[in-house]
Amino acid sequence: MFQEPVIRIQNLSHYYGQGVLRKQILFDINLNIYPGEIVLMTGPSGSGKTTLISLIGALRSAQYGSLNVLGQELVRASQSALVKIRRKAGYIFQAHNLLSFLTAQQNVEMAIKLQAHPRHVERQAQNILKAVGLGHRFHYYPDNLSGGQKQRVAIARALVNMPKLVLADEPTAALDKQSGRDVVEIMQKLAKEQGSTIVLVTHDNRILDIADRIVQIEDGYLFTSDPLQQSAKSLKQSS
Ligand code: ADP
Ligand code: MG
Repeated sequence: MFQEPVIRIQNLSHYYGQGVLRKQILFDINLNIYPGEIVLMTGPSGSGKTTLISLIGALRSAQYGSLNVLGQELVRASQSALVKIRRKAGYIFQAHNLLSFLTAQQNVEMAIKLQAHPRHVERQAQNILKAVGLGHRFHYYPDNLSGGQKQRVAIARALVNMPKLVLADEPTAALDKQSGRDVVEIMQKLAKEQGSTIVLVTHDNRILDIADRIVQIEDGYLFTSDPLQQSAKSLKQSS
């Protein structure tokens, strides 16, 4: 694991609100995430998980400290730098966010067409839908798919461009046990095949075993078991 981290977070703090309403939400977060790792982030509701993952995904502006994602510093970054990172990451949310007036295949095709040089649009969309087990549902609209099937279309859409980084915020929250398990296993398999790094927020403890590492957020503080950071600490202590 002596590679450059895909995500390097140093002393990251975040505040919401202005004036007397200003409130600190994240406190001095430090975390390195390495290529190909699957990191699960857990913690109570309101502890700052969505805030942190949306900062990593460049969906909101980072304020204090340092946040380096795919080689780009995001603290006080320009809007165009943020957009560049957004285009490089794949996102999966709790609500699937599919467009209801497009079929499963068209939802996936749209993600391909947003790329600079889309190629083999139809074939790529169909292949990834087959990979998530929806080879028989290409032309179905979201309303005619089950919760688990919709979430699998969302995974197909997030992974079709082979992003180096996949960010998922409670992707199994709305699913029953078996569908939840299925969707994370599909994510895990596809991401391993593509060499992607996954950061997945969850408080579904039925899926914790897919993680290479689990980090915990409580009241805006992150607790980690980063092996490199721990060995650095024990080196310091023993010297
Ligand atoms: P989690 O995902 O762990 O439930 P969030 O990151 O969504 O936590 O929220 C952390 C805290 O920040 C909560 O107290 C929440 O009310 C607050 N918060 C979230 N989004 C905003 C916002 N846009 N403006 C002000 N406060 C917010
Ligand atoms: Mg949340």
